[in-house]
Amino acid sequence: MSTTADAISSAEAHSAHNYHPLPVVVATAEGAWMTDVEGRRYLDMLAGYSALNFGHCNPRLLAAARAQLDRVTLTSRAFHHDRFADFCTELAALCGKDMVLPMNTGAEAVETGVKTARKWGYEVKGVPDGHAKIVVAADNFHGRTTTIVSFSTDHEARDHFGPYTPGFEIVPYGDLTALAQAVTPNTVAVLLEPIQGEAGVLVPPAGYLRGVRELTRERNVLFMADEIQSGLGRTGRTFACEHEDVVPDVYLLGKALGGGVVPVSAVVADRDVLGVFKPGEHGSTFGGNPLACAVGLEVVAMLRTGEYQQRAAELGDHLHRELNLLVGGGAVTAVRGRGLWAGVDIDPAHGTGREVSQRLMERGVLVKDTHGATIRIAPPLVIGKEDLDWGLDQLRAVLAS
Ligand SMILES: *Cc1c(COP(=O)(O)O)cnc(C)c1O
Repeated sequence: MSTTADAISSAEAHSAHNYHPLPVVVATAEGAWMTDVEGRRYLDMLAGYSALNFGHCNPRLLAAARAQLDRVTLTSRAFHHDRFADFCTELAALCGKDMVLPMNTGAEAVETGVKTARKWGYEVKGVPDGHAKIVVAADNFHGRTTTIVSFSTDHEARDHFGPYTPGFEIVPYGDLTALAQAVTPNTVAVLLEPIQGEAGVLVPPAGYLRGVRELTRERNVLFMADEIQSGLGRTGRTFACEHEDVVPDVYLLGKALGGGVVPVSAVVADRDVLGVFKPGEHGSTFGGNPLACAVGLEVVAMLRTGEYQQRAAELGDHLHRELNLLVGGGAVTAVRGRGLWAGVDIDPAHGTGREVSQRLMERGVLVKDTHGATIRIAPPLVIGKEDLDWGLDQLRAVLAS
């Protein structure tokens, strides 16, 4: 058996089958490229669902991590440490907000957002205890915890994981009228992805986010933007909300915040919102640990240069120009997205998204399908233009065959 087949069969025998990875076993990676256990090279056009916006083993981020590894890596929040204040201060400044509550995974940031909104609802807005509602969108993806899957509309994510957490109202994404009707005096928050990534990189109709902002302000409801995948440079701006000049009340961040090195997530908001937490009411042993703060601080410094956002905007224009040329040519029925982020719908006659991903893998390009007929393209923002063009050549070749 090959080294690849060996590794895959051991993994199948001894790990839960909660994923169905492409049959590639990565050994090393650098920038936009990964090398497998047999020495084959692949262009990474998924970038860990945007966790790798700065590329694999980014030298600046590795240097920050290495320097911190030799000092202190974990204190728990029982004590202060000397990287915490800088990280929170700089991240808050990047977001134009007062305060940060650091966690680890994206799902934890969303859970923290839910708790923040409920507590704010009871203690600031005056909603009767136990009656808070949060309005969410259909086809959302906010993570995998029991509360979060309670308001998922994806059967695979949700079925047989009940009983479900109450307190959520689901409305169609992009429909302001439905949203306005769903908001009641007990609504404490509207929780949305400014672009729905897992749903297939769905960009809402123009004016939607601005409409959500106006509605939530008028009705005294928090606008919580889940920018875990859309944020931190991916769309050509620091936040996808910026494309409509919208500033939400609460940012939920994760993925790229950890630079592809460690899990780092955060809830970022002003004092009138995050100030609801008192000692003991929420926490995490690893949240805001020194290693996470050192890496996250470097991520924020890199984003403050603006160069990654600019790169995503420029390369993204190029990507979308090239992808749009494929639409209607037979294999591609639609292309959506913003910046260096695209959902490409494949005509089923040309194979499923999985089959196209597999054929791309055989040509040295790694992408991931979503919802059957869509492939998602989201390379690291540090990808070279020639590499991006080479990846697009492989896509054209696969779709022509
Ligand atoms: C990935 C993702 C999450 C969950 O993040 P995890 O780190 O996997 O828990 C939440 N929201 C969005 C929009 C995501 O893309």
